[in-house]
Amino acid sequence: MWSGGEAVHSGIQHAPGTLRARCTVRGAAELAAFCAEHGIAHTVTGELVVATGSGGLPRLHGLVQRGRAHGLPVRELGPAQIAEHEPRVRAHAAILVGAGGVCDFAAVSDRLAAEFGAAGGRIGYDAEVVAVDRRPWGVAVRTSDGRVVRARTLVNCADGDSGRVAGLTGDDPGVRIVPLREECYELTAPGLVRGLVRQVPDPGSPYPGVRLSQGLDGTVRIGWSVTSAGAEASGRHRPAGRLSRLRAPALSRSGVWRAARPAGRQGVAEAPAASSRQAVARALRRLLPGVAEDDLRPGPSGARTQTAVLRDGTPVDDFLLRDAPHAVHVLNVPVPAVTAALPLGREVARRALLRARATGWSPLAVESGHCV
Ligand SMILES: Cc1cc2nc3c(=O)[nH]c(=O)nc-3n(C[C@H](O)[C@H](O)[C@H](O)COP(=O)(O)OP(=O)(O)OC[C@H]3O[C@@H](n4cnc5c(N)ncnc54)[C@H](O)[C@@H]3O)c2cc1C
Repeated sequence: MWSGGEAVHSGIQHAPGTLRARCTVRGAAELAAFCAEHGIAHTVTGELVVATGSGGLPRLHGLVQRGRAHGLPVRELGPAQIAEHEPRVRAHAAILVGAGGVCDFAAVSDRLAAEFGAAGGRIGYDAEVVAVDRRPWGVAVRTSDGRVVRARTLVNCADGDSGRVAGLTGDDPGVRIVPLREECYELTAPGLVRGLVRQVPDPGSPYPGVRLSQGLDGTVRIGWSVTSAGAEASGRHRPAGRLSRLRAPALSRSGVWRAARPAGRQGVAEAPAASSRQAVARALRRLLPGVAEDDLRPGPSGARTQTAVLRDGTPVDDFLLRDAPHAVHVLNVPVPAVTAALPLGREVARRALLRARATGWSPLAVESGHCV
């Protein structure tokens, strides 16, 4: 995780009605409330979406409609109002969404883990799931350290490895996971950006545009390029920290390559730029005039399973959960899964409880959680 905390997205750009949109919009508000309740560092700055040229205006207007459909507070800003909100940012026009910011998500996960422990749960780390036996009463899961864990329901949240873990249960996930790699930079000078700033994304392009966020420590992170994770994606489980990125299943299968092509093509276009500070500085100057190469240093980067693809090659844009006997498979939770974590977790828990009840089990007491 980034020392400056994780960006909490407003969710404005996700299609209304999707699980991704519902969980992100609600998740941003819940995360702010959770952090406030538990004394966890966070800021709510809002998200400024900017068009650096007139070409971005129709997309900006489209986002305004989308924001209203989500029930988000959205204001349209001209250059003078942009300068009031973000004095160093120059843009043709912008919208300010009144949600989103940054939070210390490591502290959020520690808090959730402590609550789980206090309720009698146990968390084991650094053990790979290597086999799953489905039985009439539930599942027996074997891990690489030789243990067997028995449960009514298996919840598979293995990110880039989720397709393979679903395969271990004998379930066909119905999708292939195409791993993408995000390259980030940081600004060496503090204070150039106060909150979250992003270029208006082009829905026709897999490239999300430049994204800037000021972390809790004042560092400004720049989300720059998204490329195919390529060779890194051919390995297997690498147990590490909670947010370790996994290598995903083989990319050589034809359907995956077909589906990866749109992102890959963009990736090829972005990849040389990603490794060139000069190109990043040039792109950044369109919204932050005066930024020089020396103002940039490499930031946190890694693979993220942005795209699960269907057999016909269609990328899955929404979060994708699949229920199976004694199992819930979380197959596609791309960015902003951190923002969406609380409602998404409740939805997964609701499904897991339904699966467990199907075995005849009834919990002694379950808080009646509402889901999204
Ligand atoms: C550089 C970067 C910056 C990001 N910034 C943000 C941000 O600011 N805001 C935001 O909302 N999102 C952000 N994201 C996205 C976010 O981090 C991910 O969407 C989120 O971590 C996905 O959560 P997850 O639990 O599904 O997967 P992960 O966090 O990857 O967790 C999956 C876990 O499963 C384990 N695992 C895998 N296979 C097995 C197996 N066979 N047996 C046992 N364990 C296994 C892995 O070791 C890992 O610990 C960012 C991602 C990247 C790469």
